[in-house]
Amino acid sequence: MDYFLYKDDELYVEEVAVSDIVKQYGTPCYIYSQHTLERHWHAVSEVFAKEPHRICYAVKANGNLALLKILADLGAGFDIVSGGELARVLMAGADPKKVVFSGVGKTTAEIKQALSAGIAVFNVESIPEVQRINDVALLMGKIASVAVRINPDIKADTHPYISTGLASNKFGIDKNEVIGVYKIIQQLPGLKAVGIACHIGSQILEVAPFIEALNCVLQLVTLLKTQGIILQHVDIGGGLGVCYDTETPPSLRSYADALLDTLKQHAPYPLELWLEPGRVIVANTAILVAKVEYLKETASKTFAILDAGMTDLMRPALYDAHHKIIPVKKTANKEVLLDLVGPVCESSDFLGKARLLAVQAGDLIAVRTVGAYGFSMSSQYNARGRAAEVLVHKDKMTLIRRRETTADLLAHEIIISDRNVAKNLALKVDGSHNADEKAKLVEVFGCNFFQWLMSKLCRRKETLEKKNEKKPFVKMQALGNDFVLLDLDENARVWTKEEIKHYSNRYTGIGFDQLLTVKKQHDNQFDYHIYNADGGEVEQCGNGARAVALYLCRKNKVDTTKDIHLQTCNRVMTIQLLGEDRFKVNMGSPDFSPQALPLEMPEQSSYEIVLEGEIHRFAALSMGNPHAVLQVPAVEDAPVATVGKSLCLHSHFPRQTNVGFMQIINEHQLALRVYERGVGETLACGSGACAAAVIAIRDGYCRSPVRVQLPGGELIIHWLGPNETVWMEGDAHCVYEGLVCEEE
Ligand SMILES: *Cc1c(COP(=O)(O)O)cnc(C)c1O
Repeated sequence: MDYFLYKDDELYVEEVAVSDIVKQYGTPCYIYSQHTLERHWHAVSEVFAKEPHRICYAVKANGNLALLKILADLGAGFDIVSGGELARVLMAGADPKKVVFSGVGKTTAEIKQALSAGIAVFNVESIPEVQRINDVALLMGKIASVAVRINPDIKADTHPYISTGLASNKFGIDKNEVIGVYKIIQQLPGLKAVGIACHIGSQILEVAPFIEALNCVLQLVTLLKTQGIILQHVDIGGGLGVCYDTETPPSLRSYADALLDTLKQHAPYPLELWLEPGRVIVANTAILVAKVEYLKETASKTFAILDAGMTDLMRPALYDAHHKIIPVKKTANKEVLLDLVGPVCESSDFLGKARLLAVQAGDLIAVRTVGAYGFSMSSQYNARGRAAEVLVHKDKMTLIRRRETTADLLAHEIIISDRNVAKNLALKVDGSHNADEKAKLVEVFGCNFFQWLMSKLCRRKETLEKKNEKKPFVKMQALGNDFVLLDLDENARVWTKEEIKHYSNRYTGIGFDQLLTVKKQHDNQFDYHIYNADGGEVEQCGNGARAVALYLCRKNKVDTTKDIHLQTCNRVMTIQLLGEDRFKVNMGSPDFSPQALPLEMPEQSSYEIVLEGEIHRFAALSMGNPHAVLQVPAVEDAPVATVGKSLCLHSHFPRQTNVGFMQIINEHQLALRVYERGVGETLACGSGACAAAVIAIRDGYCRSPVRVQLPGGELIIHWLGPNETVWMEGDAHCVYEGLVCEEE
């Protein structure tokens, strides 16, 4: 029963005339009847209603989201064969607990996807697949429910391409090996056997092969029971045939009764019956409407050449399948014998052969019973966009998939040489066409496609320009740190995070610890930003400030008789010029408050903590960034890598801390090694030198100025006590200036 009927010689889908749908959406066009779909679902579920069962619609028959949504709303489960189909059913609102995953080639990614969605069961088809699902489940801390799909070696009378239950097919596990596979599953901690499955083929027109298959499955269930393996469901798959022409499939009632009776008689204990019907639910829900482009008479026959072909409906070409073909408007004209063919360049491109029809060029025809394996098998072969799909519900029509456009056909492809494209088509990549040129191009491509192509070419041009751009930089060095400086007043632009990562790498780029940017605000005052090699911005870097000052002096960008001011993201740093390449940087005041660090302990002059089984005493302060300072007898032996790292990452410091290990040498000298957060042991840390000197002065070991020896060199720290700012003195060096550019 369906709802594709004539009224006054006009074909209707429910209450809408096909010709009206075509007026709106063109041809070729798939038209579905919602009422028919709902009826078929109810018909299938009704005949099984009296016993525990689950119906998992086979998505591959037709995966349109609008149709899946209707079925999901009716409570359908789904049988999927790929991650793509899983995404479809989830998007349609399906309950993942009613999803069965079939197919011989499940990838690791698909298994992960299905496990995280929480599907009901994997129908497994080989031992390596069983192993893989177990491994993935264990990695994810889950247990996967599985059913073994058996190959019952049954010949169902159908086309060889759609028979799946023969021993010679790739599907299922040989019935003689099934018990062994369940024993393997039993041993695997990531798996749980919950069912057993089979699927013997498609378009099967007798009940007997299904019963034979079910008996074979039930014998195995009985054998498994003797081995102590108990299951919950048997899945008999899909495959029930429909009438395309003169076929007489068994009624749903006789099919269901035979299955349920067999189950009752031969199951060793009560089992739920699961089914995976595809075709029987959707085949009759759709027609494919096409227009006759030409009638072509040849010596041997007459061809009606349609605007639809094997790309829209592959079944005739693939299986020699028969579909009824009817006129959209009946006429009294004389019927003639016709082959209905498509425009595709293949001799197998036909939709019907030797049909009696009265049609003229320009007439519409409808191919019947195309809801299953129709649109879902369609392709873009011959660069043909796929047809539109329209759903009719009573007197309403809704577009549920728009016709594919030329832009859709080309959207995923990448033009390698835009020069050739531009040359062949007189296209200018920058879009600088005059009115005549533009009109010509629009004529060739159509307006929408032309605009799409232009936007694509312009985007490509932008990326090319970006790639070919030469980026000036200056490489600097100060106390064992190396910097790259970008002068934003000299044609440089700030690098992206990706570029910083790329260029900071010594193998792929220039190599540097930090990227500095500088831009003039007004006389002797500059905007100054500091980025780590990972692209993140940091608040302050005294060594970098000296490098910037040196650069500005060398380029005569400052009045060297006055101080220089650098505005960082959170403060202004003042720099005094002491000599040609020697500078004193105001590093601000030390802040001992735990909030400034932040440190989750009450304020004290020193803290104790147990690390690596020993008590460690440290002082904590912020010098623009947080520092913990530990005093050690000899820096050479300081536990930088162990204690430094543990303290850095300790939960007392929610945003981590730098850790300095200082050895007092005399009252104006100390040696220091620093574990820097996010970096590890560093050759040079300006703020760390300040922090160590401040603690040494505060605790009475040293007096200002203090020479701090770091592995990368020496700094002199000046601090006149509480309420005074800390000054850091040191030098900087220019290494070289260069350009980076990335060729294609
Ligand atoms: C294709 C398929 C189905 C659906 O078959 P129909 O003939 O459309 O009912 C069910 N289960 C499996 C495993 C399939 O491959």
